Amino acid sequence: MKSKNKTYTAKLKKLDKTHVWHPFTRMLEWEATDPLIIERGKGNYLFDTEGKKYLDGISSLWVTVHGHGKKEIDRAINNQLKKISHSTLLGLGNVPSIELAKELVDMTPRALTRVFFSDNGSTAVEIALKMAYHFWQYKLGTRSKKTKFISFTGEYHGDTIGAMSVGEIDVFVKRYEKLLFKTLRAPYPYCYRCQVKKEYPSCKIACLDEFEKILKKHHKELAGCIIEPLVQGAAGMVCAPIGFLKGVRRLTKKYNVLLIADEVATGFGRTGTMFASEQEKVTPDLLCLAKGITGGYLPLAATITDEKIYKAFLGSKKEPDAFYHGHTYTGNPLGCAAALANINVFKKEKTIKNIQPKIRLFRVLLDKLSDNKFVGDARNHGLMAGVEVVMSKKTKKQFPIKDKTARKICESMSYKGIIIRPIGDTIIIMPPLSITAAELKRIFKELNNSIEEVLA
Ligand SMILES: *Cc1c(COP(=O)(O)O)cnc(C)c1O
Repeated sequence: MKSKNKTYTAKLKKLDKTHVWHPFTRMLEWEATDPLIIERGKGNYLFDTEGKKYLDGISSLWVTVHGHGKKEIDRAINNQLKKISHSTLLGLGNVPSIELAKELVDMTPRALTRVFFSDNGSTAVEIALKMAYHFWQYKLGTRSKKTKFISFTGEYHGDTIGAMSVGEIDVFVKRYEKLLFKTLRAPYPYCYRCQVKKEYPSCKIACLDEFEKILKKHHKELAGCIIEPLVQGAAGMVCAPIGFLKGVRRLTKKYNVLLIADEVATGFGRTGTMFASEQEKVTPDLLCLAKGITGGYLPLAATITDEKIYKAFLGSKKEPDAFYHGHTYTGNPLGCAAALANINVFKKEKTIKNIQPKIRLFRVLLDKLSDNKFVGDARNHGLMAGVEVVMSKKTKKQFPIKDKTARKICESMSYKGIIIRPIGDTIIIMPPLSITAAELKRIFKELNNSIEEVLA
């Protein structure tokens, strides 16, 4: 079989290193590695060109929901393919985008009624930012001072200029500083390394007081507040205590600042409910969805908002206005068909109900792993987890960056046939919702072994 052919693999690897520029990758280091080339996927597994099998412990970067090659989604895309692959939403409607918009409106909080499609998480965020900004121009006139945004430490919202401006991960954004608009920043509750030097729960979520201080002073300039609800993914699966998001919603309402919930990573069951905001009964003014929306099949995103914001873009009969924004593949029928099938699987298989025992097991396994003397913090909401390794549990002292400790642990995992990735010294575990209890146990058993091997 061609796929088992070693010379074929060697040729691909060489071509990859010659022509493919990988995202978020130090290419100098990449060129010196022996990369895996994935050829196919089935269920929770990936297979490389030599037929070796790997458990997909990060849902192919947080997108795969019901596993690879899910029959219902495959079929929906195939059926759509027989009809049409793409038609534009400029001046025309298309069947799957209409059906999907209705589904999304039905599954999100009641006030959210209008769906604007795009094709990735960053664009979903850009759209929300522009809508929030434009809203106040309409409401208060074009001289409105409500033109800025507030966000939180460690946020990640994507890689386009606006999304970077509201984000705050130094290595990603620092270099482009002069291109970015200024954003105010409040502390996110990273409780393991608390920024206001308190302890949960006795702190009563004191970082909210910092947030309120800023709002009090600046609300007249603030168009919106953007947050990753419950879990900050790219910051290293930093998990906010329940109560923080609700507090953010209460304060943004009090100070008349629009709330944008970036559920690009947390949406579609990852935190144990369909959307993270559900857990605190929060309705944002704008909701951004992408990643898991198609079950991890195709690039599609949605920014969902309410009537008050939608109406701000209508203008009057005499002077009709518009949201002058759109991406060529907006509302792509194949992507929308995949998303519809993904949502149908959630309903048919009662996915949210079925993941609850797995989440409980996940927590037990994280607690057990915490006994390892190098595991400082093992945190999760639902099936999103971060395991932070430290030199000393007592002092929380970090390993020297140049040691690349977490990276080495993940490399050792890949030899064992499990794909996971680190962010700094946090090991990310975010399996598909279709992961089995046995597979979860295997991940943790091998992870404990790999930590021992690398740090022994
Ligand atoms: C991944 C991510 C984005 C960006 O999505 P892309 O599809 O990579 O542009 C935005 N926000 C959050 C919270 C994310 O995790």
